[in-house]
Amino acid sequence: MVIMKFGGTSVGKPERMHQVSQLITRKEDTTIVVLSALSGTTNALVEISTALAFPDKHIAVEKIDALEKQYRAFIIDLLKDENIRAKANEIITEHFEFLKITQKISLSDALVKDILAQGELMSTKLFSLYLEQEKIDHVLLPALEFMQLDANDEPDFGVIQEKLKLVLAQYPTQKLFITQGYICRNSRAEVDNLKRGGSDYTASLIAAVLNASVCEIWTDIDGMHNNDPRVVDKTIAIEQLSFDEAAELAYFGAKILHPTCIWPAQQENIPVKLLNTMQPTAVGTVIKKEAGSVGVKAVAAKDNIIAIKIKSTRMLLAYGFLRQIFEVFEKYKTPIDMITTSEVAVSVTIDNDSHLNEIVTELNNIASVEVEKNQTIVSIVGNEIAKTDEVLSKLFQAINEIPVTMVNYGGSAHNISLLIPSAHKVKTLQLINKGLFNL
Ligand code: ADP
Ligand code: ASP
Ligand code: MG
Repeated sequence: MVIMKFGGTSVGKPERMHQVSQLITRKEDTTIVVLSALSGTTNALVEISTALAFPDKHIAVEKIDALEKQYRAFIIDLLKDENIRAKANEIITEHFEFLKITQKISLSDALVKDILAQGELMSTKLFSLYLEQEKIDHVLLPALEFMQLDANDEPDFGVIQEKLKLVLAQYPTQKLFITQGYICRNSRAEVDNLKRGGSDYTASLIAAVLNASVCEIWTDIDGMHNNDPRVVDKTIAIEQLSFDEAAELAYFGAKILHPTCIWPAQQENIPVKLLNTMQPTAVGTVIKKEAGSVGVKAVAAKDNIIAIKIKSTRMLLAYGFLRQIFEVFEKYKTPIDMITTSEVAVSVTIDNDSHLNEIVTELNNIASVEVEKNQTIVSIVGNEIAKTDEVLSKLFQAINEIPVTMVNYGGSAHNISLLIPSAHKVKTLQLINKGLFNL
């Protein structure tokens, strides 16, 4: 069993879909193909939902019409067979009728999730029609029948495994399956999603529950690079990463992977390959148990971080103070990314500000609190990085001019994290590229 996931740009143009059909039919193993929405569609659906919430129905209708035009044009180049193109037009009509009806009903969180699901539903149906035209035998599996969240809105591994196996058992001789990334159902049986970029997570979950031999993530770049190619000029692809290294990079901002998509593959020890749809023969990156080498591998940056500085002289020679602080974050289900402590102060960072006011109010009962927004975590990742010769001196020499506000070192064997004001991110990544990677 092989899982192949294709991202938005890999299916965003008719000729790319043609290319994907060639890549997926080269495999001898049974293959499950996970598709994202066409590039730009989920962003457009987010904009439509925002306009409906505002509410500015006029803008929402304009955006729905523009998106519909894009899909009508897309199928002209995708499909040559008149009958199949007619079917594609019907599918587009059906989904856009749904989008148009949304202005007439009251907007709820559940309806927004339904709106966001339209992208993956359409991309898979249109791709399936293209395969039908090309006489490529396959089955379209509805992800909403097996991708399940639990009551904490986390993927329910056991239920996904059970449901997916039942669905697949209906097609014992079938070799090729297509399904939607990103979308799922929650514990209330509503349509939900795995958060932005979630198709990677879908692929890794499917690979894990079916114990696949490999999970291939096909995208628009030849693997995980040592630095963010959107920000830094000279970056290079990394051949091999351990699960731990890849998970840290994904979590700390390397956009090529969804932040939490590594754990399912890691749990079942399934290699993940990052490959380039536009350059299929490039080696790409393999992510597996072994790191392949030690030392600095890559740097990533995570924006929209909030730093909270908690100070109390009562902490001096006291115990139980940290527990009191952590309990506040636990109460509001807000994870902490970085933490540093001194005798009278604790600084933490969070990226979820939904309960910031409540957290600050409660912390104010036990200490004085300062909040700093617009911060960025820069994470330098590599196997046994903490033991690497001169890594700290090289790093701090390189970024001498940057006002670093927090440092985490030693918490993980694979990661050194710095907190900086976001305005300094680009410069910091560029300086690290020179100072640590000699690029
Ligand atoms: P897809 O639509 O295929 O899921 P994404 O846009 O989510 O693709 O991820 C691929 C993009 O991630 C690349 O085009 C690149 O700009 C960006 N990216 C950010 N950091 C890295 C990195 N360290 N290595 C590779 N790509 C990265
Ligand atoms: N289409 C979704 C998004 O744009 C999921 C994905 O592409 O992975 O976030
Ligand atoms: Mg992505």
